Amino acid sequence: MGVKFLDLYKQYLVLQQEINEALQNIITSSAFIGGEEVKKFEESFASFISKDMYALGVANGTDALEIALEALHLPQNSEVLIPANTFAATAEAVVRNGLRIVFVDCGADYTLDIDDIESKINHNTAAIIAVHLYGQPAAMDKIMGIAQEHSLKVIEDCAQAHGAEFEGKRVGGFGDIATFSFYPGKNLGAYGDAGAIVSSNKMLIEQCKQIAHHGGLKKYEHHIIGRNSRLDAMQAAILNVKLPYLQQWNKRRNEVAKMYYKGFKDSALILPALKKQCLSVWHLFVIRCKKRDLLRDFLAQHGIETGLHYPFALPQCPAYYDKIYVRYTHTPHALAWQDELLSLPMGEHLSDEEVQEVIQKVCAWKG
Ligand SMILES: *Cc1c(COP(=O)(O)O)cnc(C)c1O
Repeated sequence: MGVKFLDLYKQYLVLQQEINEALQNIITSSAFIGGEEVKKFEESFASFISKDMYALGVANGTDALEIALEALHLPQNSEVLIPANTFAATAEAVVRNGLRIVFVDCGADYTLDIDDIESKINHNTAAIIAVHLYGQPAAMDKIMGIAQEHSLKVIEDCAQAHGAEFEGKRVGGFGDIATFSFYPGKNLGAYGDAGAIVSSNKMLIEQCKQIAHHGGLKKYEHHIIGRNSRLDAMQAAILNVKLPYLQQWNKRRNEVAKMYYKGFKDSALILPALKKQCLSVWHLFVIRCKKRDLLRDFLAQHGIETGLHYPFALPQCPAYYDKIYVRYTHTPHALAWQDELLSLPMGEHLSDEEVQEVIQKVCAWKG
């Protein structure tokens, strides 16, 4: 039968008419940059996160991180704590801002290990980037407490966690500033690259807008050295169609996760640990298995697609290994687990039968 890891075409078929109309309107009006769709998305996404929030659409989630960090004006060469297990964009934003990386290990839920954060803070530490990895919120109560105690800025990297909640509050509403990616495969995805920066601090969002819009809030006004990073109107129009569906899709992901937990409860697989204050949005369902590559091959032979997130912990990648801009400190979990992590099919595209097929095949594997 075969089970797809992701099926964006299936999702399009549900939205076809709305998407086609939205795109046709953009083409007819030729308002390709800026305009109503962008404004509408920024407003509705900000209020989706929390009331009294502000959002800026940017070109992608990597730019969002880079611009958000720039707007915080951290001292050059100061240190930023980031997880060792995350997508490279989190790390790139630090180095591209003239700051140094300090890698922090991950806990059993794959978000930042709180004890390890505390042991890595020194007088050069300026900020923490909390990544809500795989859709699971980081421990924001503890992270905000540590940040307050040591006067650190907190950036939330919410690229995998649109709509996830910590203690009933959506992620993106905890730190000084938060970033989102709408890369097509994310829980809320555009039809190309897109991203956003969110904050309750209006001045900070205006600062980001200046950076992203050539150094000024108005055309041909250049107050600072800026750059170009915009959410374009076609992507905004698609995101405006999709945003109202996000909660129902996240709900379906939770149902799939529940089926996996039930189906694997007697298996030897290590299932993701859950913090009870969290509502995950299950961007990925990641298990651990000692003979991961053999299991992966077995599933592939039966048409079940899987993924690796990520095949290499960042401290091991050439760009970050033994580099002046990395104060590499030991992250044993991230290093040990990189060879064990396996992402199973996850998404609202999955039928109950497909989920059962995955469970059955995984359990049939005699590894
Ligand atoms: C996808 C992702 C990003 C980068 O987003 P792009 O839109 O692809 O630039 C950043 N951080 C994390 C954790 C991500 O998963």
